[in-house]
Amino acid sequence: MKPTGPIPAGYAAEGGELIVAGRPVSHWIAEAGTTPLFVYDGSMIDARVEGLRRAMPDRVSIHYAIKANPFAPLLQRMARLVDGFDIASGGELAMAMAAGMEPARISFAGPGKDDAEIEAALASGATLNLESARELDRALAIAERCGVTPRLALRVNPDFDLKGSGMKMGGGAKPFGIDAAAVPPLVRRIVASGGEWRGFHIFAGSQALSSDAVIETQGQTVALAVRLAEDAGAALPHCNLGGGFGIPYFPGDEPLDIVAVGAALGETLDRLPPAYADTRFAIELGRWLVGEAGVYLTRVLDVKESHGEVFVVVDGGLHHQLAASGNFGTVVKRNYPVAVANRFDEAAWDQPQTIVGRLCTPIDRLSDKVALPPLAEGDVVAIFCAGAYGATASPAMFLGHGPAREILG
Ligand SMILES: *Cc1c(COP(=O)(O)O)cnc(C)c1O
Repeated sequence: MKPTGPIPAGYAAEGGELIVAGRPVSHWIAEAGTTPLFVYDGSMIDARVEGLRRAMPDRVSIHYAIKANPFAPLLQRMARLVDGFDIASGGELAMAMAAGMEPARISFAGPGKDDAEIEAALASGATLNLESARELDRALAIAERCGVTPRLALRVNPDFDLKGSGMKMGGGAKPFGIDAAAVPPLVRRIVASGGEWRGFHIFAGSQALSSDAVIETQGQTVALAVRLAEDAGAALPHCNLGGGFGIPYFPGDEPLDIVAVGAALGETLDRLPPAYADTRFAIELGRWLVGEAGVYLTRVLDVKESHGEVFVVVDGGLHHQLAASGNFGTVVKRNYPVAVANRFDEAAWDQPQTIVGRLCTPIDRLSDKVALPPLAEGDVVAIFCAGAYGATASPAMFLGHGPAREILG
């Protein structure tokens, strides 16, 4: 038997059936007309944002990194909840605007922006987080050609990274951002160009569960932003401090203490010199806001035995939930939280069961040797922590089964 991650707080059963977004899973499956299916709990997301606002200092805005989950109804809800969207493509710009987010509250990062994307962003009034000196040249030329005042920030590749983070995106040689040492002259160029100088974007990693690590990184990030602004001799209107708040996916993972993080950030910002009294700060989060609010529901098609092991074959797979199969940024396959949705309260069998997707590849394992009630054809398996990096971060076209349905409840 292998352990599974903790089922997130807020899930319960009624009459033996798992309740998601206030309704039994059979309701959602009937509404979708089919499995596999992602269900997202809108009020869980609301509560998440509210809790974060209470924890964070007033001068820190909350941004949603929409790549975590760009499902249109979810984005529309988020557009009313958060202070800004962080995007990373022209496609995401269109989605963010369609969801009703004002362009002035959108910022666009990403190491490879083409001219059409830069033009669309500048013309809309979104902020570009520039990732190279050459990208600054291109943005200034495009702004001049289009007759717009560009809103420009610089993404900095910091000299540190977020300790214990699942995916390192800063520190040392990186394709993201501009090395800190090269930043001050570019700030001066932006200011001299007459463009609107919007400050820094400094993102040092993802999926951290240690509040000490996040606090240390935020302290380093604020200090770096101040040092770079000082070196450049420029004001600092805005600074995006990155995010990196993780959620518990695996056995032994504990939730991040956001109250401790917010308190420490408040102290850091209170110590800033008076010149930074008007600087606005932002944190940009994806999975922390939406990950635990999503459940992936997939139905059992077959149960079979091979050399004494039980394999449960479901109608979903890694083409919708690549991360649960251990093939999205993790080194070792560990089990996501999982349950039998239609028999949630039943005791586990003493026989381990391995849940595999329907794809013809040995990497399509959703849970490895888990303790669950004995599964049978027609049962519904729930995989938790499916609200982020599921539907759009999985190869839905692989093997021709197509995408899963999605519902915001
Ligand atoms: C992916 C990404 C995020 C969101 O990361 P999460 O781990 O989902 O919070 C935020 N900012 C940037 C720059 C990113 O690339």
